[in-house]
Amino acid sequence: MIELKNVSKFYSDNGTVTVGLKDINLKLNKGEFVAITGDSGSGKSTLLNVISSIDTYDEGEILFYGNETFYFNQNDSDTFRKNNVSFIFQKYNIIDSYTVLENVMLPLLIKGKSRSEARVEALGIIDRVGLGKRIHNRGAKLSGGEKQRCVIARALASDAPILACDEPTGNLDSKTGAEIISLIKEVSGDKLVLIVTHDYEAIKDVCTRKIKLSDGEIVEDVTFAEGKAEEDRELVLETSKPKRRTLLGLALLNILSTPKKTVFSSLVFTFVSFILLLLSLLMVKTAYDENYSYSDSYGIISDDRLIIYSSDHEPLDMSRLEPILKDREYYVNAFYEESTARFSVGDLTTAYGALTFHDIDCEILNGTADVGEGEFVLIMPSFQYSPDYARAIGETLSITANADHGYTRVIGTLAGVGISDDVNSFYIRGASPEQSLINTVLNNNVSFSFDVSGVEMGIFSLVYDKELETPYFAIPKELEGKIDLNFNLGDIYSVSYDFEIVYTDEVRSPKLFVNTDYMYGNIAPKVGGVREITVYTDDIKSLSGQVKRAGYDTSTPSAVEKGEGASLIVLYLLIIVVIIALVIMFFISFAVLQRLYLTKAKDYSIFRTLGLCGKDLKKVLFIEVLAVTAVSTVIGSLLAYAIITLAELELYKYVSVTLILLYVLAMLALAGATALRLNGKIFKSSVYRTLKEGDE
Ligand code: ADP
Ligand code: MG
Repeated sequence: MIELKNVSKFYSDNGTVTVGLKDINLKLNKGEFVAITGDSGSGKSTLLNVISSIDTYDEGEILFYGNETFYFNQNDSDTFRKNNVSFIFQKYNIIDSYTVLENVMLPLLIKGKSRSEARVEALGIIDRVGLGKRIHNRGAKLSGGEKQRCVIARALASDAPILACDEPTGNLDSKTGAEIISLIKEVSGDKLVLIVTHDYEAIKDVCTRKIKLSDGEIVEDVTFAEGKAEEDRELVLETSKPKRRTLLGLALLNILSTPKKTVFSSLVFTFVSFILLLLSLLMVKTAYDENYSYSDSYGIISDDRLIIYSSDHEPLDMSRLEPILKDREYYVNAFYEESTARFSVGDLTTAYGALTFHDIDCEILNGTADVGEGEFVLIMPSFQYSPDYARAIGETLSITANADHGYTRVIGTLAGVGISDDVNSFYIRGASPEQSLINTVLNNNVSFSFDVSGVEMGIFSLVYDKELETPYFAIPKELEGKIDLNFNLGDIYSVSYDFEIVYTDEVRSPKLFVNTDYMYGNIAPKVGGVREITVYTDDIKSLSGQVKRAGYDTSTPSAVEKGEGASLIVLYLLIIVVIIALVIMFFISFAVLQRLYLTKAKDYSIFRTLGLCGKDLKKVLFIEVLAVTAVSTVIGSLLAYAIITLAELELYKYVSVTLILLYVLAMLALAGATALRLNGKIFKSSVYRTLKEGDE
């Protein structure tokens, strides 16, 4: 059956070479019950391992039914073992987390049998070894003798012609040991049984042959009863493979049968996925915030608004812009002369301010922050503050500000004065834009009076419409009959023209509609030209492009604006930081997971002694890690979701499909890399080495 010809094996450890086996010549036959004895370190285990192909040899040849085995690669050895050898070791190598039944079913499943077939067969065998009452007990719960019975049952299940036993009774008391030996004898039939023992006396009654080793050489070989020599025949290595479903089932069994380890590794992965998600969200947020800034210098804004101005501070040449704007309506935001003295409070004339209806975080120094209709709070940077502003509290003032539709002036009562570090110019916080004006007008009977350079300004927007026949002044219908209109347009809006006054529901604040003649005949020349206009259009992009080609600048204050170059550096730095954090996290979690899975290495090596080939075992391991990762990723995301919600971090708007894809990819990469490196750790050059290291 087996023939060893001049087989030698050497162990080299840091330069020193130990002889494991030296020139072994041996023929072993079916039906033999061989005792391999000798002193400790004489090479008994080495011989058994080499014969049973869980370790390699360096010289000579081992023939199996006349077939050479020296050329075997790992996969060949795995397949060879699956069909030909079963093992019983001194350390009861059953899977502690599996039940007796699961342990015994394992070789049957690995051979490709279905679960139900394997179950029936395993139950029969378990009865034969006397463990019928322990079927559903976990390996860890069995006594030493019971464990060894379980191993014997498993060996029977694999039905291999060779039974290799290394000190099978070494950890048992002598009575139990004797029982195990006779059980092996009883169930082994005409198998070739090899028993390594340093206690020959214990098996001398049952063995048919005694081989004694010393320093790796055979010093005694006595046969008491001949075995059956067999004809040489071809060795078929390709056999039935475990079903894919079986591999999946094994992976799940591994996950479920070691709940503590599973939970712990899940926690590690959950932690990683949670941190990863938060980090990437924060990164995207910072990228947005650093790289784009929301323009707030235009107050309330809408998305279809394009501002056109001249970057060289020259007035806009409307005859050049007209053909580009075609028949779009536009608003004049500012003339040149109007660029200063937007509002005055007391003796202080301040610069341009913005009207806002949002809360600005500020410290109220005078008056109150609690504004009603028609009231407002004046907010400024602290360096602009002067106590003189407080004198105006309670007074009705007119303010120029940017409101919904272009350039507007608002009248209201100053309720409070505050400073804030969040603003860089004057802000007027009011209750609501037009309504506050209307209420003020209704309650105070204030008359409109338009004076560009005076303090007491009314409110209107200038709308330029070149198709218009005659200019007219549109007033909200609500104000009809309740106000005293007193046109005093001063130098600029010369009253040489008769406006038609129209009360209409179509405007919410007073607007002066003018046509080409009036605009360029009366207004523009007197104010040094148009400084800035606003166009409302659906195709901001193409119009902006055309305007820029004509030499003017545009801005779309509603859109986010590109930040400066420096922020890109911040972004790149941030990406690097996140990557470094990822790498560090990877190694920390990997170190933790590695420790964890190495405690399972023994289980994996048992799979291999049962002939599950490395490729399939890697699949099982990968499925295990992947399943744990998947569950952890979901839990980690939920956790991140909870934290973001509870802490009101407002990160959702940064979640995108790309981000989610990247996140899932990163987690997959972590799972893959972990499984791969664990593979490397578990699959040593030979199963024997894995077994040994798994023990340590
Ligand atoms: P036995 O089973 O008879 O006690 P072994 O077969 O385990 O002996 O060992 C035979 C010799 O090979 C001993 O000298 C032992 O120290 C050496 N040896 C065994 N395994 C290794 C190994 N993995 N690395 C180095 N030397 C080893
Ligand atoms: Mg040994």
